[in-house]
Amino acid sequence: MVAFAEVTPTARIDRAAHGWRAKCLQRLVRLELPVPQTVALPALTVRAIAAGTPVDCAAILAHFGAAPLISVRPSPENPDWGGPATVLNIGLNAERHRELAARHGQQAADAIYLRFVQSYATHVARLDPDMFAATAPSPEAVTAALQVYATEMDEEFPQDPARQLSEVLRSMARAWEGTTARLLRQAKGAPVDAPLGLVVQAMAQGLGQGISGSGVVQFVDPVTGEPQVTGRYLGQGQGRDALKAPQAMFLTHDARGPSLEDIAPGLVADLIRHGTACRARLREEMQIEFTIEDGRLAVLDAVRVQRSARAGLRIAVALATDGVIPREEAVLRVEPRALTELLHPQVDPRGTRDVIARGIAASPGAAVGRIVFSSHAAQASAARGEPCILVRRETAPEDIRGMHSAAGVLTERGGVTSHAAVIARGLGLPCVVGADLRLDAKNKRVQANGRSFGEGDVITVDGTTGQVLAGAVDMLAPALDSHFQTLLGWADEFRDIGVRANADTPADAATARQFAAQGIGLCRTEHMFFEEDRLVAMREMIFADTSEDRAASLARLLPMQRADFVQLFEIMAGLPVCIRLFDPPLHEFLPHSREGLRELAEALDKPLSEVTRRAEALTEFNPMLGMRGVRLGVVLPEIYDMQAQAIFEATVEVARRGAAVVPEIMIPLVSARREVELVKTRVDAVAAAVRVKAGRDFAYKLGVMVETPRAALRAGEIAQHAAFLSFGTNDLTQMTYGLSRDDAGRFMNTYVQQGVFPEDPFHILDVDGVGELLLIGAERGRKTRADLTVSICGEHGGNPESIAFCRKAGFDYVSCSPYRVPLARLAAAHLALKDRCG
Ligand code: PEP
Ligand code: MG
Repeated sequence: MVAFAEVTPTARIDRAAHGWRAKCLQRLVRLELPVPQTVALPALTVRAIAAGTPVDCAAILAHFGAAPLISVRPSPENPDWGGPATVLNIGLNAERHRELAARHGQQAADAIYLRFVQSYATHVARLDPDMFAATAPSPEAVTAALQVYATEMDEEFPQDPARQLSEVLRSMARAWEGTTARLLRQAKGAPVDAPLGLVVQAMAQGLGQGISGSGVVQFVDPVTGEPQVTGRYLGQGQGRDALKAPQAMFLTHDARGPSLEDIAPGLVADLIRHGTACRARLREEMQIEFTIEDGRLAVLDAVRVQRSARAGLRIAVALATDGVIPREEAVLRVEPRALTELLHPQVDPRGTRDVIARGIAASPGAAVGRIVFSSHAAQASAARGEPCILVRRETAPEDIRGMHSAAGVLTERGGVTSHAAVIARGLGLPCVVGADLRLDAKNKRVQANGRSFGEGDVITVDGTTGQVLAGAVDMLAPALDSHFQTLLGWADEFRDIGVRANADTPADAATARQFAAQGIGLCRTEHMFFEEDRLVAMREMIFADTSEDRAASLARLLPMQRADFVQLFEIMAGLPVCIRLFDPPLHEFLPHSREGLRELAEALDKPLSEVTRRAEALTEFNPMLGMRGVRLGVVLPEIYDMQAQAIFEATVEVARRGAAVVPEIMIPLVSARREVELVKTRVDAVAAAVRVKAGRDFAYKLGVMVETPRAALRAGEIAQHAAFLSFGTNDLTQMTYGLSRDDAGRFMNTYVQQGVFPEDPFHILDVDGVGELLLIGAERGRKTRADLTVSICGEHGGNPESIAFCRKAGFDYVSCSPYRVPLARLAAAHLALKDRCG
């Protein structure tokens, strides 16, 4: 025979054995809330029931007095794991039906009996719900429902309450063990053998001559988390009917219609009092289900309020501010990934979605705009004040200005570290890459899901889900309010690894400051050369025949670059700024079309044939493994000389205005110590020259970006000349796997689906392979130089799992796109707090 326990203040009810609902009800009982009599069946009992052990239902029923009506609700360990549907009014039979009719009227009695028969037939006897389609309650409807049951089941509807209860318990216990239910809850993080408790409770009917009905109340808005009495009350109603019934009343006085407070202010005051007690003792915002029977209030159940990410954050902050939970707990209650929803506009989940394509969710948030197919069109659209979505096969550095002008970006090709993805994340621009659509750029059409869209058609890009939707949809605005700032401020108190931002422009830097990044961990300087006025000088430099000519073109770029750095230093106000010297292959700065080459020939006053020949000569078979990064710095040292001069002169200028900066200069794509020596010698010489000319001293740091496996392996000797090592895990992943970051999107899904890679390594750091190189690099580097600063600045820097790895490896900081800084700060705090708790 199986065991159960009555829920009293002193009974031994615990969450692991009886489930969260039983435990929660016990807490409500201890708070002396008017909870109807309740019995809890522990998971062991429920499992035994599922296995066929008989239940002494008469013994359970005996707890509820003579001829009781009862309900059974699921009580898993975690409310998010779901459970079988609640069954109300067990115990109803012909006799009780007659009694109810005499006491509360025929219609009320019919409604309840009909509902019980329907619910029993579908949930317990597993009959088709269509056979019991909703009909108005009447004696005929009840008879018809009983008839259907008898015909389908070959027996009369069970009249014995003990048998009804036994069948309900058995069916709920078995439903929990079913494959679908198991898969559903496993998807929500439940262990394979997650237990289920059940709660049996006396029905408190919302029926009677006086004020009688049922309702649901909560004390915060579920979308914003703002304090607000929310819910409905339905006279003569049952269960959660009030939430669906159009005639339901508001709870407190409301201009929109009648309220429970209008007719029973005392009861509403009681409800609010109970709500306050629940919040304080259960340490959570709860939704309370209640009934009123002839003016007597009963609290049937309390569940954690369902909430959006923004409401979740606000609730956690409010609970900590009110001293209900400690700050540490508030920080831990907010999932770092949930912050993404607060930072960007989102597609309103309540609306409908007309999905036309799916791709990789490359940069979160959603944007609505008209389709444009070129950067030029994007800029024109922005000039007209018309939001647009830039649709490209893939993007290149020359698209950056178009991306700046667009509301969102959509590409046919690319993975999470493709150019479009990286830049969009930096700009906080919603972006979907590698989408299943076909772009016909020549005819300015895009085919998606059998439909065709042209320039000017409105679409929505949802970079949070990777979906592309036809037309405009309703959006939710970002929520960067004081609650957000408060929570992240607390997170900063707990975390023990630094968080910087990757920021290339003043706008990025301003975003980085707004999100309280502790500096810039990567400024990709090449992006500064794509502005129209600079591009010309840049191209002249590329076409220069001699070192002098090259220096002359660079001299024109120098003041612009210096101004860039002055701006960055000023925005960052003394925080560290790590500037990466020029990295990409030069051909990226050349025009790709014949028309562009002709314009260039004109500007350079050279024959088209020569310009074309020189451009072709710069073409490489594998540009990402070619003349880029430090290799350019060694072969064409004037570029780095100019950049170093601009950095140092900016340092002096800013220092003169009273702000001290210690710039950090980072050399990209290093693979050998000698490369660092060569660059360092020249940079030191430039520094000395600027010091002499300015008559002012300044400090700076020179470091190395570890992006090649060889640099990681040789970090010991490289660190002899480097004050810091920053792992560029985008290139390092690409080179460790021998896998092009721009092409990986084509087969990554298949690879992940077939289990070749557990995850996309460009997205989640491959801790086994690339991670080992990080550990080796950090260890060998630090052996040479104990005070070496070690960090990560690839896209992984904003990923919680990767942050965990870097923190464990003792890295000093992570650097990520500005919009991921809040997530990184919170994720780092979680790691530190979880370590503290063991
Ligand atoms: C990297 O390679 O990890 C990196 C940050 O540099 P980029 O993405 O500019 O190549
Ligand atoms: Mg790189």
